[in-house]
Order: sequence, then structure tokens, then C-alpha cells
Amino acid sequence: MMNVAVVGAGVNGICCALSLAEKGCKVTIYESKTPFSETSSKSSKLLHGGIRYLESFQIKLVKEALADRAWWIRNAEQYTKINRFFIPIYKKKSRSRLKLFLGVKIYEWLACSNSLGESQYHSRKQTLALNPVLCSDGLMGSVSYIDVQMDDRGLSEWLMRKAKSVGVVIQENTPIKRVGLDGSITRVDGKEIKYDKVVNACGPWAKKLIDDSDLRSEYSFALLKGSHILIDRFLANPLVVQIPENDRIVFALPHNGRTLIGTTELKHEISDQINCSEQELMYLINAASSVFAEKLKTNEVAEVYAGLRPIVSTELKVEALSRATRESTIETIGNLTNVFGGKWTSAMRLGNTVSEKIVKSKEKIPC
Ligand SMILES: Cc1cc2nc3c(=O)[nH]c(=O)nc-3n(C[C@H](O)[C@H](O)[C@H](O)COP(=O)(O)OP(=O)(O)OC[C@H]3O[C@@H](n4cnc5c(N)ncnc54)[C@H](O)[C@@H]3O)c2cc1C
Repeated sequence: MMNVAVVGAGVNGICCALSLAEKGCKVTIYESKTPFSETSSKSSKLLHGGIRYLESFQIKLVKEALADRAWWIRNAEQYTKINRFFIPIYKKKSRSRLKLFLGVKIYEWLACSNSLGESQYHSRKQTLALNPVLCSDGLMGSVSYIDVQMDDRGLSEWLMRKAKSVGVVIQENTPIKRVGLDGSITRVDGKEIKYDKVVNACGPWAKKLIDDSDLRSEYSFALLKGSHILIDRFLANPLVVQIPENDRIVFALPHNGRTLIGTTELKHEISDQINCSEQELMYLINAASSVFAEKLKTNEVAEVYAGLRPIVSTELKVEALSRATRESTIETIGNLTNVFGGKWTSAMRLGNTVSEKIVKSKEKIPC
């Protein structure tokens, strides 16, 4: 039986561990804090293909993620919510109606047999009837498509239960200081433990673990911070708000009786604090207010949170960040497998790919 250590208990680490254990490996996860306490609980809570990536022609990524979306519905339906997402179209500050309609139709078609319903065009009158929160000034209509919101907490607990049921051991509050190409890990108390294989699934901290271990990755990264705010306001349908200045979009989503608004995209250094700045808070308030009939006020903000994405690239310009690929990267060096990036939606696919590679490699490589 292969003995594997997974470092990091975010969704990627848990899915790798689950898939490895299902293939007969003995798996221990080491997590410096508590499972799902970092990026995996700071997302927009969507299981989606990522409609905005169609604009940068990331067709394969979108198609695969739509198939992954279907996996969650098939296997954990109770934590998913299928909803109609509206993209309001305003005079002056919008992509053309044709472009948007084609976009939502392509999104529907790419889901193939996993399509959850028809994408549609709505007149101004229909749009306002369905979304009374919208500002009517300059509104021309909307397009809509079907996508999925998740109960990420419920889904996290479901994944943990599944992982534990196949024998995965989770060591919380156990930061790992170093990993070795020989399959070793070193805890902060200096204790070294030998495994056959190690998976580095530390998310935004994966590169730091490699550096702290005096190892080299062939990949370079930029970190992107994304913030969300929760507003004490009820919203009937998810909205996709177009930001005219830079072609970005911001989601306004119904979430447990409140409205979740996000996200921002800012370059971030690993040593910086991960928090939603005043500037980001105002950006999100202004973005939502640009389509709401009743403008948002700062005192309606009930909660804020921020998370980091590692983006595989060397020199990212700010305007390219939003379009930079969300595909994951898997790197094997000796008995160490590094996992970078990805999406909640595609974490199980990533876990299966990692476990297949590890199980196929079988033998421990002498290092
Ligand atoms: C703002 C934002 C919005 C997003 N929205 C969506 C969305 O709507 N849908 C979607 O599909 N995807 C979304 N994503 C992407 C998704 O959230 C991530 O791909 C996913 O959560 C990454 O999980 P992870 O396990 O790699 O990282 P993490 O969840 O960060 O897990 C890494 C874990 O490693 C631990 N760790 C770090 N260093 C060590 C160490 N030395 N020793 C032990 N443990 C360590 C950390 O404590 C952490 O728990 C979003 C991402 C961001 C940033």
C-alpha cells in the first residue's frame, strides 16, 4: 500500500486525498490551520464553467468545468442550487446584445447533455418584472443563462466525511515546514516523517513551501486577491454586472437571505495581509449600485472576505489578470507532486488526475 502525505486541506488537497484513498493509498493530510479555512471558503460559491472565460476563448476550460459542474449535481445535489443568472444590458455601458446573447447560448451549448436549461433574451419589461431591484434608467433588456450556486460549507463537510470514510487521516493545526523530493515532510517542531509520495496542495502557499524547502519549480506565479462583500439585502435572482471601464464583470448573488457581491482582482504579494481594502469595498458597492434602483450604502455591508488565487504566469499586466487562465497545473519532481491553481468546480477532476499520476508511478523514486 502506497503511503502518501498531502499538505494543505483546501478543496484541492481533500479531493486529491479522497481520490488517492479510493485507489488504495494510505493518506494523511497535514493542514496548518483547519480544513477549508482559506481560499476554499473565500470563493464566489459558484459551480460553473466560467462564462467570462468565453471572451478570452478558453473554450476547453469552460467545457470541462461545465462537465465538472454536472458531477457535483449528480453526486451532491443537496448542496447545489440551480439558478437563472441575468446579465442586464444598459445603454452606453455594455457589450452588444448580440454578443451577450451568443455568449449565453454558447455557454448553454458547451454544456451539451449537461445543459441545465435554455439561455434566453428578455425585453426591458420582462427584465424589470423578473428583477425589480434593477434601475430602469437606460435599461434595454437582459440575457439569462442557467448556472449553479453551492453551499460550500455543506459541500466541504460532505467531502471531509467521504475522505474520512475511506481512511484519510486529517492532522489539523499542523503546518509543514519543508517537503523533500525523497517523499519526506518536516513539521515545524523539526520532526521528519517519510512517505512514498507527497502532494503539495497548499494553494496560494504552494510556491512558498517549495521555496522554504530549497526546491525549484519550473513555474512562476502571480497571486491575485479577490474580495467579496455581503449586503443585508434580499435579491431574487443572481445578476452579472458589467463593469464598463475595463470589461470586467461582478456577480451579485442571493446568499442565505443576503446578497453576495464579488469579486475584485488585485495583484498581491504573499507577505501582504489578505483583507478586503476600503478601495475594494467601494469598488464593489459602486459596481452593484450601477445597476440597482436603490443605491447601496456602506452601512448595509454586513461582512467582507478576501481570498487569493495563484495564477501561473510570469509577467501579468493588471488588465490581463481577469482573463488569465484558471486552469490548474500539476508538476511532479521526484516523489513530490505540486498542485497549483484551479477552481472549486474542477477540484475532483484535479484530485483524480493527481491520484492517477501517483498510482501509475507506483515505485518510490530514489532521490
Ligand atoms: C476570490 C475568489 C473567488 C473564487 N470563486 C470561485 C467560484 O465561484 N467557483 C470556483 O469553482 N472556484 C472559485 N475560486 C477558485 C477556488 O476557490 C480555488 O481554486 C480553490 O479554493 C483552491 O483550493 P486549494 O485547496 O488549492 O487552496 P486553499 O483552500 O487555500 O487550501 C490550501 C490549504 O493549505 C494550507 N497550507 C498552506 N501552507 C501550508 C503548510 N505549510 N502546511 C500545511 N498546510 C498549509 C492552508 O492553510 C490552506 O488551508 C475562487 C477563488 C478566489 C480567490
